[in-house]
Amino acid sequence: MPELPEVETIRHDLEREVAGKRIKTVTVTGSRSVRRHADVAALTSRLEGAKIDSVRRKGKYLLVSVGDDWLVVHLGMSGQLLKTAPKDAAIKHTHVVITFTQGGQLRYVDPRTFGEVYVAAKHNMAEEAAELLELGFDPIEDVMSWNAFGSLLQQRKKKLKDVLTDQKFVAGIGNIYSDEILWAAGLRGDRPSDSLSTQEVRRLYRAVGEVLQDAIKLRGSSLADEQYRDLFGQVGGFQNEHNVYAREGLPCKRCRQPIQRVKWGQRSSFSCPGCQV
Ligand SMILES: [Zn+2]
Repeated sequence: MPELPEVETIRHDLEREVAGKRIKTVTVTGSRSVRRHADVAALTSRLEGAKIDSVRRKGKYLLVSVGDDWLVVHLGMSGQLLKTAPKDAAIKHTHVVITFTQGGQLRYVDPRTFGEVYVAAKHNMAEEAAELLELGFDPIEDVMSWNAFGSLLQQRKKKLKDVLTDQKFVAGIGNIYSDEILWAAGLRGDRPSDSLSTQEVRRLYRAVGEVLQDAIKLRGSSLADEQYRDLFGQVGGFQNEHNVYAREGLPCKRCRQPIQRVKWGQRSSFSCPGCQV
């Protein structure tokens, strides 16, 4: 599932590629992706003829500013947003196509359709996009001091991995980056969040910023399924820098002990039994 670094990579390129462009037509061929709108015309009529001002991001959500509305895109498990030309070959599982008056297209492709595309009025977010208002701080966009971060951890009293992946606490971190952040901080995922020393809080705080920034620099992670693609259809590069994720049995790069995989809810979590405490 795309997490903050993948979505930020798309946001950055999208801003450069489509800001200032006017939307000519919006074609919806997969109604599950626009399920929030009872009537497809409610989406297309609000976008057609409008100009894209800028592209922002909150956690894993892309927020495309279109006049008084946000065009919200959440990639879910397998969503892709691709810049194409109208003459390009059809792509399987394309659900929404936005064509610009200046030429060029954006195609929203999503084989598993857990993702979503919808429009919400900026002045009516509470009703049209309530989940965005519930998101916690964005670790790249929002400024937070390490001691404010520490007191939030203290209040949660949950396992660290569960806290890091709770979108209402911090927005944008999922299964991959929480494992990488915890390894970088030298902390176990099952440590209670209120058990950290001051030094450990600072280490974790620093690891959150550093791991996400490094991943953004390398344009995110594409796993073996290569489902994550950037705006131009290219894979990311950070998967080659992972220290624990999907490295079960391989020696830890810090202490040489084999990386362990444990079941964590419906997923797997990877960590080093030697140097994460
Ligand atoms: Zn280790």
